[in-house]
Amino acid sequence: MASLEMKGPFPLIDNEVDRQVTRESPGNYGLGFTSGDDIFIVQYVGRSDDDVNNRLHDWTGKNYSKFKYSYANSTKEAFQKECRNYHDFGGGKELNNKMHPDSPDGTNWKCPVCGN
Ligand SMILES: [Zn+2]
Repeated sequence: MASLEMKGPFPLIDNEVDRQVTRESPGNYGLGFTSGDDIFIVQYVGRSDDDVNNRLHDWTGKNYSKFKYSYANSTKEAFQKECRNYHDFGGGKELNNKMHPDSPDGTNWKCPVCGN
């Protein structure tokens, strides 16, 4: 079964983001909700190239109640993980992500899964 390989889920509220995500770092996140038996249902995957904490604050108060996250050692690692998460969880058919992840500005890195 596919895994995001992230910590959580945690409530997607500002003070919980700050309590959990304490490093300023590139990273990845999944947004969604938990079902009755505490299973995290991922609806959206994303990344930040420089500060995953800051990016998660952009999502509070919107359509998702829980988040998971992980730190990445580099921008490239974050991009490649986002691609794997995107494909593992069904891409644009299953997720609310309408577009395939873009490589960071100034790079032409290819998706490790589909090569795009
Ligand atoms: Zn791909």
